[in-house]
Amino acid sequence: MGLPRDLRLSRFCPHCASPLAERRPPGDGRDRLVCPACGFILYLGLKAAAGTVPVLDGRLVLIRRGVPPGEGLLSFPCGYAEIDETLEECALRETREECGLEVRLEGLLGAYSYPPSVDDGSRVAVIAYAAAVVGGEPVAGDDATEVVLADPAAVPWGDLAFLSARDAIRDRLARGGLTGGPATPPAPGRGSAPPPRRAARRPRGGPPSA
Ligand SMILES: [Zn+2]
Repeated sequence: MGLPRDLRLSRFCPHCASPLAERRPPGDGRDRLVCPACGFILYLGLKAAAGTVPVLDGRLVLIRRGVPPGEGLLSFPCGYAEIDETLEECALRETREECGLEVRLEGLLGAYSYPPSVDDGSRVAVIAYAAAVVGGEPVAGDDATEVVLADPAAVPWGDLAFLSARDAIRDRLARGGLTGGPATPPAPGRGSAPPPRRAARRPRGGPPSA
């Protein structure tokens, strides 16, 4: 079976720069992008991203995205895992970078992926952890423009950027025990939940962070 056209983004071998060809390697069950010159096989797959759904003073810590996809919409702090870090390290780093908080991981919330029909082409597998805030202050950073503390009873569902955000928050609420952490409370006028800026829209399954 051939590769879907919109998933064939790479045209040249990353090793020797020869044009890639769509071929079926011996023993493989599907066509791959193969380099005829050096034999390199470019396996396309899901990219791993990890993040946390922190709780601060009983409220969920969300971030407003400052970059596409989902620019202006909300998600939990999350991003692509680097080649030299674990998923746990990635989750802690992204949380620190995007919302300024040090957290303690409190178990896996879930692993989320969606079919290409509801994805935006980024083909990401999102791993989300429950987390308690143990330090720092809720300040937006990196590609986040705002930290939003959401009351569990008033989650802005229609303002979420991704299906993974919806599902991870849903799973965090189902876990219960939203007692929050002891970290520094947000300063007045910062971190409060604004009204949704956009009409409700169907979240996509795209990446949580660029
Ligand atoms: Zn090559």
